[in-house]
Amino acid sequence: MAQGGAAAQRTERWRGAVKRAVTAVVAVTGRPLQCEMCGKQLFRSYPFVWRGRLKLRGAEVAEVRADWDKNDRLTFRHVEAEKCRG
Ligand SMILES: [Zn+2]
Repeated sequence: MAQGGAAAQRTERWRGAVKRAVTAVVAVTGRPLQCEMCGKQLFRSYPFVWRGRLKLRGAEVAEVRADWDKNDRLTFRHVEAEKCRG
């Protein structure tokens, strides 16, 4: 059981390392998403749909609010107003 626990920990460490590596690559190569209010870049991402969910790897690095603007359009903006000025 202890070995199984160690193997599970190694697997979790690997998953964490792969996730961080993917996030780092997406932060450089992903498509930029800007705040609809001020136009500043919020984060970079590759939108990905999987099992009824829209995943935006890279969004976890920013505090962002997302809202539906129209039936087929999501908008993003800063959560904190002071980051949204100028
Ligand atoms: Zn903004």
